Amino acid sequence: MAQIIDGKAISAQIKEECKEKVAALKAEGKSIALAVIQVGNDPASSVYVRNKKRACEYIGIESISYELPEETTQEELLALIGQLNEREDCNGILVQLPLPKQIDEDTVIRAIDPKKDVDGFHPQSVGALCIGQPGFLSCTPAGIIQLLKRSGISIEGKECVVIGRSNIVGKPMAILLLRENGTVTVTHSRTKDLKEVCKRADILVVAIGKPKMITREYVKEGAVVIDVGIHRLEGNKLCGDVDFEDVEPVCSAITPVPGGVGPMTIAMLMNNCVESLSLS
Ligand code: NAD
Repeated sequence: MAQIIDGKAISAQIKEECKEKVAALKAEGKSIALAVIQVGNDPASSVYVRNKKRACEYIGIESISYELPEETTQEELLALIGQLNEREDCNGILVQLPLPKQIDEDTVIRAIDPKKDVDGFHPQSVGALCIGQPGFLSCTPAGIIQLLKRSGISIEGKECVVIGRSNIVGKPMAILLLRENGTVTVTHSRTKDLKEVCKRADILVVAIGKPKMITREYVKEGAVVIDVGIHRLEGNKLCGDVDFEDVEPVCSAITPVPGGVGPMTIAMLMNNCVESLSLS
């Protein structure tokens, strides 16, 4: 039986640690606030935003909430970000993606002061990650490193294969595994012999966006499998990019969906918010 990596429990642990740190900061007379901006009312985004605000409340971080209409212009959004960059009582700025089509996401991400870039998407944060300088880490990959470490799985010297090369998961994941001294291969939609490459992995991180694509044919006996994917099936059931029932018997440890990587993203966002205080 594989070890089931419990993202719910580990994320709860990280949130408790954040709560303690915030309480200590408050005792020193400091306060901490996160601006959360949603443009439009995409239902999935509304759920994410609500969960992020709830997590803030639990930890003791004030959330400054902006719900802007769908037709908001890029200039209006950039003006708001400009104001928040200047505000001393705002430590972090989070713009919920995706944005409506009239707004260019890259321009918006670049407008956020890197000292308040708690999502870790600003090119300066990404550059800092690549050269090992201090900066905010992209939340999902940072959460995966915590899942591995806190489950007693060492990365050093391991063959790590990442499937997917997106800017928010695949690429930062590869750099973080490298930083932990893993031997890293990044695969993607043009990779030849994907199964053979994946079968080399001691640690396989799957971020493809295709429900249940990864079966045991891609997995070496005893490998650790991290499933980043999240999909809603008919009947409201959730599944990942990995076919859990098929893969679980052959691997040594695996993250479930739900309850694996998902809860870690918000926990690491909270962690970044707490860290933002030392940068501002
Ligand atoms: P994306 O669509 O931006 O990237 C997918 C990547 O998979 C691409 O780099 C592509 O090259 C690769 N790919 C596509 N088809 C492939 C194939 N047949 N073989 C090999 N590689 C292939 O997706 P993303 O934003 O990185 O997200 C990936 C998944 O993770 C999605 O299901 C998303 O919903 C989920 N996700 C979850 C969290 C979380 O908090 N749990 C956070 C971000 C993303």
